[in-house]
Amino acid sequence: MQLQETKVRENIRVWTLGGDEVPSSFGANCTAVFGRGGVLLVDPLIAPAHARLVGEAVRRETDLPIRFVVLTHHHTDHALGSAWFAARGATVVAHRACREGMASEHPRLIEERRRDPGIAALFAGAESIPPAVTFEEGLALDPGDLEVRVLHPGHGHTPGDSVVLLPGERVAICGDLVSNSYHVNYEDADLANLEAGLQTLRSLGAETYIPGHGAPGGPEILERQGEYHAAVRAAAAEPETAVEKLRRQFPGYKLEWILQDTVRRWTSRR
Ligand SMILES: [Zn+2]
Repeated sequence: MQLQETKVRENIRVWTLGGDEVPSSFGANCTAVFGRGGVLLVDPLIAPAHARLVGEAVRRETDLPIRFVVLTHHHTDHALGSAWFAARGATVVAHRACREGMASEHPRLIEERRRDPGIAALFAGAESIPPAVTFEEGLALDPGDLEVRVLHPGHGHTPGDSVVLLPGERVAICGDLVSNSYHVNYEDADLANLEAGLQTLRSLGAETYIPGHGAPGGPEILERQGEYHAAVRAAAAEPETAVEKLRRQFPGYKLEWILQDTVRRWTSRR
């Protein structure tokens, strides 16, 4: 198991295990931001073993402490690895509703996965620790001579969404408001608010957007995400054929197994 690295800026790395199943954190992205006084991580993956890989990757770059871990939302592939860093002195930061989602869902999911022989070992030492710092609207963090803004764009992908902006670097970390070449998990989404979330991201004026899953890109990946939501909405008008239609419309997209759920959620909304 090895992290794939994308160097977004000299001081910003994105790490992922790729793929789209539990053993690789569903391909979620973890971002590391290197300040002069410490390191800030965003979304440290699904399990202690994955968090340890992230910790080792940080250590290859610097001896500075990992001071902050920001969670873009409560889904385990983004949030559950945070306990590993909390136990080692990092301050975990998330929206209040993210903390609530972790408390209400994580214990059950950890138990469920411990009963699944294929992935039980991955969750043997897993625990969900509530973020130490929560906020409603947003806050600023500084890992040393570096401005980091965390803001809540409203309930889009989940009730506790956060977006992380590095104004000096013109980089925005989107969480699952944006996926690139991955199908979208809509289980906690407010479908009516997804476009507003994309609009918030556009308004940040970043040059580089780091999605929750898939490769970082320019503002065009926001447009592609908007088109994707529109395509899903249109396909859901004919639920019997929708999964096949979306599969053909987005060839090669990962998380294909989630399409059945996607169509059900968009159909029941109509
Ligand atoms: Zn998610």
